[in-house]
Amino acid sequence: MRATTSLSDAAQRDLGGLAERAVGPGDPGYDEARAVHNGMIDRHPALIVRCTSADEVARTIAFARAHDAPLAVRGGGHNGGGLGVVDDGVVIDLSGLDEVVVGPDVVRAGGGATWAQVDRATGEHGRATPAGIISTTGVGGLTLGGGLGHLTRRYGLTIDSLVGADVVLADGTQVHASADEHADLFWALRGGGGNFGVVTSFTFRCHPVSTVLAGPTFWPIEQTPEVMRFFREFITAAPRAVNGFFALMTVPPVDLFPPELHLRKVAAIMWCVVGSEEEASRYLAPVHDVGTPLLHGVGAVPHAALQSLFDGLYTPGLQCYWRADFVNEITDEAIEKHLEWGQKLPTMHSTMHMYAISGAAHDVGPADTAFSYRDANFAEVIFGVDPDPANADTLRDWCIGYYDDTHEYSAGGAYVNFMMEEGQERVRATYRGNYDRLARIKAQYDPNNVFRINQNIQPAKAAG
Ligand SMILES: Cc1cc2nc3c(=O)[nH]c(=O)nc-3n(C[C@H](O)[C@H](O)[C@H](O)COP(=O)(O)OP(=O)(O)OC[C@H]3O[C@@H](n4cnc5c(N)ncnc54)[C@H](O)[C@@H]3O)c2cc1C
Repeated sequence: MRATTSLSDAAQRDLGGLAERAVGPGDPGYDEARAVHNGMIDRHPALIVRCTSADEVARTIAFARAHDAPLAVRGGGHNGGGLGVVDDGVVIDLSGLDEVVVGPDVVRAGGGATWAQVDRATGEHGRATPAGIISTTGVGGLTLGGGLGHLTRRYGLTIDSLVGADVVLADGTQVHASADEHADLFWALRGGGGNFGVVTSFTFRCHPVSTVLAGPTFWPIEQTPEVMRFFREFITAAPRAVNGFFALMTVPPVDLFPPELHLRKVAAIMWCVVGSEEEASRYLAPVHDVGTPLLHGVGAVPHAALQSLFDGLYTPGLQCYWRADFVNEITDEAIEKHLEWGQKLPTMHSTMHMYAISGAAHDVGPADTAFSYRDANFAEVIFGVDPDPANADTLRDWCIGYYDDTHEYSAGGAYVNFMMEEGQERVRATYRGNYDRLARIKAQYDPNNVFRINQNIQPAKAAG
């Protein structure tokens, strides 16, 4: 407690005018400022500094270092493990750095912007950058981990559209990283998470996307084997215009779905086709021959509206427990396990998603960016979710039980953005052959591991 109080006092002394935007324990708004999306995370930082410029970020890094305090960087605060906040340390809150500017073929977004802001701005120009499926997610964390969503098969991962980033390094230096400047750093930022510096601005290519054909097909959960066998073949061979992720889920009781389906457990595929209605009908025609669909709800929707479709379901403060794997092949044996665990979905919000990594995402090789698992075909996430903290143990038990039972069918590592804090071995398994290069770049840009509240890459030790 004493350390906490002294950091607040030191901020008044050392941070000058910036101290007015610093919040510590006891200050009004402290609990709101320390809260992250995952309600299971309850951390108490000593100081949260709301930075609005790269200079302020640099000053806050120097402050944390001078006081030997752990430093967390918060973008959108969505990380499952709560890596945007740290106990007894300093948090750089980037939410004030959220300017979004759209050019003819590019969009520049502040390091603390959300995808909702980007989608809205690009959507006005009939364009989009690949993101995730929840628009309240931060641009920062999602991009630095890779970025999987509705446009993955058409335009690749989010990092495949990244053309440059402004970064504040551990020593306060401000650099621009791109294919031509600090190319090693640019390589590492594309999948290596927040290990290398604080990104204050991202510049992405944006692509011609306006109205898309999107929506789910639902089947009775008992038909999971048939649907998963179809999905594994169909989605890897489908035209790039077609994206679909498989889900084991409970139909939410909302007007969008017929009342007779409400709260029914289903096997689902959530589609997004970038093309005309005629193309979408033609591409998705085989879907109707699989099992006995309960609903095929694909229709025209503006891309930005699709991006926010699930925001109301996965609201901030829900209890969330995460496990994940990359998957090369969905075997028949694994499918039986998915059926078993899908039937045991513990709550309405809990789900398992299987995202396709194919199409344009496979144009980039495993060593071309830090995101190593380009050769995988799927990213699986098991997501135990509920509003009631009393259900936390139930969510965790289901999630871990499901993961333990299916991990043997995986490719080994997991998508960093779907992981909680699971230890060094898991981080290494995830970066595989890229880990050593990442560790060398880490040693160059952050030798003291100032940025360690993340899926941490440890700086390589100097030879000799
Ligand atoms: C409901 C929900 C749905 C999701 N769906 C998807 C999905 O469809 N596709 C997908 O790819 N992911 C998805 N995610 C996962 C998401 O990508 C990660 O949670 C990601 O870490 C969130 O980024 P953030 O900036 O919001 O998080 P934060 O918690 O703020 O940060 C996460 C990590 O990134 C670092 N970081 C954030 N911003 C910066 C920055 N500007 N500079 C340096 N480091 C930074 C932080 O230090 C931290 O280590 C989802 C998450 C949730 C909660």
